[in-house]
Amino acid sequence: MTSGRSAAALAAAVRAQERRAADVVEEALAAITAGDGELGAFLHVAAEEARAAAEAVDRAVADGRDPGPLAGVPVALKDNLCTRGMPTTCASRILDGWRPPYDATVVTRLRAAGAVIVGKTNMDEFAMGSSTENSAIRPTRNPRDSSRVPGGSSGGSAAAVAAGFVPVALGSDTGGSIRQPAAFCGTVGLKPTYGAVSRYGLVAFASSLDQIGPLTATVADAATMLEVIGGHDPADSTSIDRPAPRPALDAGADGLRVGLCRELVDGVAADVARQVRAAADALAAAGARVEEVSIPELGWCLSAYYLLAPAEASSNLARYDGVRYGLRKDGDDVAAMNVATRTAGFGPEVKRRIMLGTYALSAGYYDAYYAQGQKVRTRVIEAFDRAYRGVDLLLGATTPSTAFRLGERVDDPLAMYLSDVCTVPSNLAGHPAISVPFGTGDDGLPVGAQLLAPALEEPRLLAAAAVLEAAAR
Ligand code: GLN
Repeated sequence: MTSGRSAAALAAAVRAQERRAADVVEEALAAITAGDGELGAFLHVAAEEARAAAEAVDRAVADGRDPGPLAGVPVALKDNLCTRGMPTTCASRILDGWRPPYDATVVTRLRAAGAVIVGKTNMDEFAMGSSTENSAIRPTRNPRDSSRVPGGSSGGSAAAVAAGFVPVALGSDTGGSIRQPAAFCGTVGLKPTYGAVSRYGLVAFASSLDQIGPLTATVADAATMLEVIGGHDPADSTSIDRPAPRPALDAGADGLRVGLCRELVDGVAADVARQVRAAADALAAAGARVEEVSIPELGWCLSAYYLLAPAEASSNLARYDGVRYGLRKDGDDVAAMNVATRTAGFGPEVKRRIMLGTYALSAGYYDAYYAQGQKVRTRVIEAFDRAYRGVDLLLGATTPSTAFRLGERVDDPLAMYLSDVCTVPSNLAGHPAISVPFGTGDDGLPVGAQLLAPALEEPRLLAAAAVLEAAAR
């Protein structure tokens, strides 16, 4: 754990002039150089930019200026977050050579907080996948067992944190892409409330579901990251006009009503279910009132998600036409050039999603698929609302199993899609949810306990997550 497991401790040391940001970043870069050949967490390491940013932090400290709450903390960014002048590929050939002319709002906010961006992490192409094997560049391996996938689509960010290359990273979560890799790699992963974090500069996959959030070694760091990146942004029309939630991490779980959600426990592997029940016991031991609840509508979520997300993707990805971004393959006329570019530039999963989504939206099928998916979404939101009349939080598994082997599911899209069955409900509802490492499965690999909360209840979510984190030690 070369760069230290906690961003809070690093920032405190830099601010107190006990450590130089320049040394912290050198350590992170050395760890990446030594270890990332095998893991493949990074697609791009921005060594020179990182060194310059660290120097600037050290100068601020020396001059007595406030370097910010993340002073000198090395951060890795999923490669679907726009970084000015730095490659941003979404792990797709179609964005080969593209360098965004602007920073995503979260990137601007991280820089302003003193964070040092060390590079861009690997992912499933356009965030479509659950194993990072859909990267057009290379797969990422799980640092806990290199024969296993790190999960996806933010697999590179999860691996970078789990390997100790960086204490914190950002990912995006459309159907579980922060929480699922966090669970597989043994890190904390937070998907904030839809609209709590600006999506400006996040390359769009399914705009009504996408949220940016942190992958971290500790719950406290997830809270700090949320405070830094969250809050209103006029550049994102879906951004909620409120300040970032201020979590009270020491609030504990006393008196909290927690619903152990049957649909998120029954049906998952026995070793995972055992840890989730142990997590429920840990919350009860901390004073929570735990009861079993059932929300049958959650059983519909995966089907609805795999109509709605591809539908939105088919529209969002229409912009990659060979003119505006990256790759171009010439053809006899514009239409032929479009087809040639998209044929060469997109991988098989992206093409599958575009076709599924186009079908779900097409005249004659719209009502049966897209509209039906939207109706399910409304029913799911209502079902959550009913459940939250009786409980403050829900608890369940993050994933149906621990990390699977590379190659095991790549040729079976349905098996791959099933990895998301516990995570998609929160995206459909726009609610926050967090995965906290809680013990291991029979194979010795990490298990994630997932806590879910109503919109904007991140403080409650993080306080309970901190209880689980303490109990898991
Ligand atoms: N694995 C899901 C999918 O493939 C979720 C991806 C995500 O959250 N970006 O769509």
